[in-house]
Amino acid sequence: MSVDLFTEFGLLPELIQSIEQMGFEQPTPVQQVAIPALLEGRNVIAQAQTGTGKTAAFVLPMLQQLTPGQGTVQALILAPTRELAVQVSTAASQMAAGMDLRVLPVYGGQSYTVQKTQLKRGVDVVVGTPGRLLDLIRQGVLDLSQVRYLVIDEADEMLEMGFIEDVESILDQLPEQRQMALFSATLPEVVRKLGERFMENPARFNLSPSRPTVEGIEQRYYMVRDRDKTAALIRLLEVEDLTQGLIFARTKARAQELADELASRGLAVEALHGDLNQSRREYVLNRFRRQALTLVVATDVAARGLDIEAVSHVFNYDVPLDPEDYVHRIGRTGRAGRTGTAITFLAPAERRRLKMIESYIRQPIQEHRVPSLEELQARRDERFASRLSEMAAEGGSEAEMALVNRLMESGLDPVQVALAAIRMARAGEAALPAEELEPVTAEKRDRREQRKFTGRENAFEKRAPRGRKYERQEAYPAQRGRGNHREPGMVRLWMNLGGAQGVRPGDVVGAIASEVGIPGRAIGEIDIRRDHTFVDVSEQHVSRVLAESSGKYSLRGRPVTLKLAN
Ligand code: AMP
Repeated sequence: MSVDLFTEFGLLPELIQSIEQMGFEQPTPVQQVAIPALLEGRNVIAQAQTGTGKTAAFVLPMLQQLTPGQGTVQALILAPTRELAVQVSTAASQMAAGMDLRVLPVYGGQSYTVQKTQLKRGVDVVVGTPGRLLDLIRQGVLDLSQVRYLVIDEADEMLEMGFIEDVESILDQLPEQRQMALFSATLPEVVRKLGERFMENPARFNLSPSRPTVEGIEQRYYMVRDRDKTAALIRLLEVEDLTQGLIFARTKARAQELADELASRGLAVEALHGDLNQSRREYVLNRFRRQALTLVVATDVAARGLDIEAVSHVFNYDVPLDPEDYVHRIGRTGRAGRTGTAITFLAPAERRRLKMIESYIRQPIQEHRVPSLEELQARRDERFASRLSEMAAEGGSEAEMALVNRLMESGLDPVQVALAAIRMARAGEAALPAEELEPVTAEKRDRREQRKFTGRENAFEKRAPRGRKYERQEAYPAQRGRGNHREPGMVRLWMNLGGAQGVRPGDVVGAIASEVGIPGRAIGEIDIRRDHTFVDVSEQHVSRVLAESSGKYSLRGRPVTLKLAN
């Protein structure tokens, strides 16, 4: 069945009105197939990526089938990240604007008190991340006995982030009589099984593009040594016609370091990664959306599912490990018919990954040369001269003229004055020094790099075949270096829960950093033992952590106690 217009679905007038207000004219392919099936009451498994309009595909039929004014949780949407939960909840609220239905996002890091108050007041749709939902269920605040409609959004991400068991525990607690939809960009075995276990006779739709689309994006790569990547990036930032750019780095630490480095050069830039708490991430995103920031340095996980308008440039500071991530990343530019530029920095040891990407997108990526110092200087001169000509044409004020006359009278000639004025005007360029880059062209240099990199690269490829996992690894250094080693400036705390209680590193970081509102960076090693956990917290934040966290919140349904470790 082909549906060309939203009005052909038989949706309620209130929904049609919201759709019009949101500016949707025609249903997207996933909406064309999923909306009728869901309106018929069928269970649905849909393979569709972010950007396909999947949210409206499950939200519209959901709203149509709920009872307005009921004020008990009738529908539950599970999302892997806070960002996605907020995004889906916002979209659902917009679509429900004309109906007496309340939508509430719940996610870790938000105050329990606020969530509980809102839940008590009456909510029809809850959009939440699995961990927090489970906590609320265990605390008896979230009653799911009336749920008739369930959605699992980005199920493959749930798997990727280790949430599948949590999802199953939630599903086990839902009434049998309910409709269910599962949306996922890919369908790994575990996700498929989850669908089969919990869904009877689902309608299946595959909307994933047969070929990744990178059309309309100019793709280039620059071969530079790893340690020269920052200098190369700074050079390109100067010569590119950039309005806003997203820079992707492989790990949280690299993203933060790079953002700090660029900021120290006077660029309007912030980092965006999983170590930052929710409010900080929202703050960064809002500034980026308002164009108060020119650049954001992000990790793949943090950038996933973000609702950001197209940027002019995407920089791959590191080549992603997974070709799919490359497509996701560069898809942030060149949207809606506009052209975009995707620039990848490639250390010689990353060459193999480039080949994988090229074969995945089925097109070659052009190699370009980082502009030389001379070219950079020529570009600076050219820009300065053209600005100067423009200003010269504008003339000057009387006061400026008087100043020039005074200088002439003091015996200086106009050329001397011009030279001194130019030097003063260009003093700021020193903030963007152009460092020498070691050229990487010859094969022998390539081999030398390979030798230097192989050990490290292999080590992390073994640990983490995909980029996302690597970031998780990086976040929890304790998993690598157990024992009593403690970084300077850190204080070791003892927590009353451990592996036997289901504690995972992410819970610890999430709980402490988000609940207490300290940066994830302030948490160091986490050593999970059987019945307890050691966690290092920076000296600066330790008193706050001890004062604000002990006994005040729970993790995996149990109250947390923290004290100084012996
Ligand atoms: P999603 O895949 O749900 O994240 O949606 C991607 C974007 O497409 C969102 O900004 C939606 O508001 C927008 N969108 C969804 N459906 C339509 C439609 N039928 N027409 C135009 N835009 C849409």
